[in-house]
Amino acid sequence: MLKSMLSLASPQGHHGRLSVLIFHRVLAAPDPLLPDEPDVVRFDVLMRWVSRWFNVLPLDQAVAALRAGTLPPRAASITFDDGYANGYQLALPILQRYQLSATFFVATANLDGGLMWNDRLIEAVRHAPGPWLDTGVEGIGTVRVGSLEEKRALLAPLLQTVALLPLPERSEIVTRLVAVSGVVLPQEMMFNATQVRAMRAADMLIGAHTVNHPCLRACADDEAEFEIREGRARLEAIIDEPVKLFAYPYGKPGKDYDSRHVAMVKKLGFEAAFSTCWGSNSASADACQLMRFTPWDRNRWRFGLRMLGNLFQTEPRVTIGGAS
Ligand SMILES: [Zn+2]
Repeated sequence: MLKSMLSLASPQGHHGRLSVLIFHRVLAAPDPLLPDEPDVVRFDVLMRWVSRWFNVLPLDQAVAALRAGTLPPRAASITFDDGYANGYQLALPILQRYQLSATFFVATANLDGGLMWNDRLIEAVRHAPGPWLDTGVEGIGTVRVGSLEEKRALLAPLLQTVALLPLPERSEIVTRLVAVSGVVLPQEMMFNATQVRAMRAADMLIGAHTVNHPCLRACADDEAEFEIREGRARLEAIIDEPVKLFAYPYGKPGKDYDSRHVAMVKKLGFEAAFSTCWGSNSASADACQLMRFTPWDRNRWRFGLRMLGNLFQTEPRVTIGGAS
């Protein structure tokens, strides 16, 4: 029943629609500080549903078929952003179990032992001794971190607030909170170059996601172009083949990137680029602003119906900002 509804909303050929799922990481076990990230059990269930309901294509083939009007019915692709090593350790075996291909968009500065700023902050809060923590962040101040629940309650507003700070201020706060917590930061949370090569050898695709994962709209134009170009060059050197797909860091049009960056991605010769705007893609979609979506539901039917609903979401919900 659901499958035939999906086929109606996502037929083959010129009226086909491409659903692109977005993930970041797969956890070994549920983590109360990362409530939105699936663990291996849940990811396995999701992939089983997706493999039954959708025709999952490698992203490059899916984009080519979308443009050519030759998509199969219920076409979908799977993507992961940022370059978490558990993509190799935990997601890959599950993807292979269901014979699914996925694309991994990797920010290269964190390869081989790096850590994204948000993960530094999460680890600092996780290991904060408590019961009180002076965050040094305006609007948040000193808060209780005596229990996991209190730490979890702090993290959402803390991450949101710190994300908006100028870079020097952000790194000063993160560095100070890491020092206060006494945490030894994990060295192997992100891919190393050997894992990136292994993913490609396992028929996964590697896509560019800049060097430092900046908000591109906060960058000067030459800096933004450097980030996009150099991130790709580093990955091409690792896998020894062209990298043709790109995902905008943070990915909200008009907020995290705008028309200047779309033009850069096109000029640099990428075949397709992806936002984090929710929706599905038709043949007339801009190949350098394709939309992605992942339902959060834990119930099979709710998940399926949410995927069905997303097939009717055809326009970005945020209009793109100009160059100003
Ligand atoms: Zn990202």
